[in-house]
Amino acid sequence: MPALKLPPMSATIAAIDTALAARQRPRHQRRLSGSMIGKACERAIWYQFRWAYEPEMFSGQMLRLFETGHHREPRAFAELRAAGVKISDVDPETGDQWTFTEIGGHFVVKVDGRGAGFVEAPKTEHLVGVKTMNAKNFAQLQKHGIAVAKPDHMAQAQTEMLCSGIHRFFYYAVNKDTDELYAGADVRIHFDVAAATALMVKAERVLHAARPLPRISDDPQSHLCRFCKAHAVCHGTGFAPRNCRTCLNSTPEMGGEAAWRCVRDDSILSVADQERGCAFHLFIPELVPGEQVDADRNSETVTYRLPDGSAWVDGAGRAAA
Ligand code: SF4
Ligand code: SF4
Repeated sequence: MPALKLPPMSATIAAIDTALAARQRPRHQRRLSGSMIGKACERAIWYQFRWAYEPEMFSGQMLRLFETGHHREPRAFAELRAAGVKISDVDPETGDQWTFTEIGGHFVVKVDGRGAGFVEAPKTEHLVGVKTMNAKNFAQLQKHGIAVAKPDHMAQAQTEMLCSGIHRFFYYAVNKDTDELYAGADVRIHFDVAAATALMVKAERVLHAARPLPRISDDPQSHLCRFCKAHAVCHGTGFAPRNCRTCLNSTPEMGGEAAWRCVRDDSILSVADQERGCAFHLFIPELVPGEQVDADRNSETVTYRLPDGSAWVDGAGRAAA
């Protein structure tokens, strides 16, 4: 009897993944954040902050994975409460996550929770960060500790402590495969004022840079660049998308509301304005895969030589209209 040929995938399962993927609304990061600032390449952070590539779309499976991580938070808080920790995950003034901002509102940290009653230091208030990871990453964490195995998490914890003024951090990390909790000696992270200040200085560097910061590697094949979302625009094989943050007329304002200004119109730009851009958009030159060879103030155009030797004029369509 010939073997029954099964379809490669259940149509219903495929429909779940398709439905989840279709309802995602990818958005650019409005502000610099504690979870971005630990990246080793400052140029990559600048590209993300300057909306120099389209926000990532995820598969249904990845979206389920993210949701599983979020679902772990209430469970983690219930477990901490069972151990005697009085924990709060909502700011009663806003009804939302505890949120702190710095650098004119352009840098934000959103903390998972804060509380006191930890067995090692019952009176000391701690921030709490909840992390889930697979067995391989968990093993690395156990072997090397947080600073080495998860430097991005350490950077996030340090900036959260600096911005909130709460100088202890409890790192709740769970192995998703076994439900084991991380219990290393560094599970209560101490505030490192030098490290936290250096991270904020790094954030200011990114904020105030009108041009991309130096690359971590000039080699497009480098392992440091392989998974970078900005790879095409950084290594000169693609254009950035058009929006106000990729326009040389935009600049961040320091008034405290994470505002952006268009210096061409001398106007404040809402987030919707920034996403839309306008007909007078002109690329920051490094966001064009070519070499700038000319600029005309009167017609507000910039001319580039592309790698194939042809000329390309930014603003030509509008100038001709
Ligand atoms: S491609 Fe490499 S150098 Fe460029 S932003 Fe990404 S990590 Fe940095
Ligand atoms: S010129 Fe247009 S695209 Fe550029 S910053 Fe101003 S409003 Fe935005």
